[in-house]
Amino acid sequence: MFENLSERLERSFKILKGEGKITEINVAETLKDVRRALLDADVNYKVAKSFTDSVKQKAMGMNVLTAVKPSQLMVKIVHDELAELMGGKAVELTLENRPAIVLMSGLQGSGKTTFSGKLANMLKNKQHKNPLLVACDVYRPAAIQQLHVVGESVGVPVYSEPDNKNVVEIANNAIREAKAKNYNVVIIDTAGRLAVDEEMMNEIATLKEAVNPDETLFVVDAMTGQDAVNTAKEFNDRLDFDGVVLTKLDGDTRGGAALSIRTVVTKPIKFVGTGEKMEAIDVFHPDRMADRILG
Ligand code: GDP
Repeated sequence: MFENLSERLERSFKILKGEGKITEINVAETLKDVRRALLDADVNYKVAKSFTDSVKQKAMGMNVLTAVKPSQLMVKIVHDELAELMGGKAVELTLENRPAIVLMSGLQGSGKTTFSGKLANMLKNKQHKNPLLVACDVYRPAAIQQLHVVGESVGVPVYSEPDNKNVVEIANNAIREAKAKNYNVVIIDTAGRLAVDEEMMNEIATLKEAVNPDETLFVVDAMTGQDAVNTAKEFNDRLDFDGVVLTKLDGDTRGGAALSIRTVVTKPIKFVGTGEKMEAIDVFHPDRMADRILG
């Protein structure tokens, strides 16, 4: 579906080699290829432009014109620059309070409930935490039920109050319960809508203020491309979240949304979701995502 960027670069430079010395114009042509490939991978236009500008500077600085293997050097520069733009290193969750509170945010269908279960499962099995899941998506009874199913499948208890619509009350009661029963991480699943709306934003902003989470995570479907970037911006303007969870990377998306989101909201991507199963969660590694975008 997408043309492989590494191969494109290889091809452009092969053509160049046939013509003798590589020139600045050749490099510019190649960078156009890079830009096109980034756009194909769903990278936002402005991000792609500023990215290729900085690659150009690096390429000139590293004397790509006289390098023995210019195409390999270009691929490396592009790769490293991509990884750098996405934060360079993996960023962990900071869970310091007892109990630590993790608040999920994002649109309906982005994968919040699934990710809440995955995170609980990971914290329990890999970090020996004792998590409690909390159902604060109070508008759809099916959502509360879904969290119970997820909780049961990973062996993590779920706190819910099916007749209460006051999410601040539910969350505070859950935190009290966590303290009483020694749960050390409270993961709060919230309601999303199909599009950003004022009521939803007010609710989650109020909830955030009330519970003062250690981590507010924004969950977004990687397949939604440019929309993902706009939604990320709206949620960040309102919530000033701590990190992004990019779900559905098991699909055929190149993952360009990762680069755009990271650049537009300057918040780290902390996790990726790679399937519907509870084990399909990975810590986000910028260099691996750079590989994926390059193809
Ligand atoms: P919520 O409305 O934000 O709570 O979203 P859900 O957790 O209910 O997820 C919506 C749909 O996406 C469900 O069918 C999930 O199974 C699916 N889903 C969630 N995460 C992933 C993922 O990483 N990969 C795939 N393929 N599907 C996912």
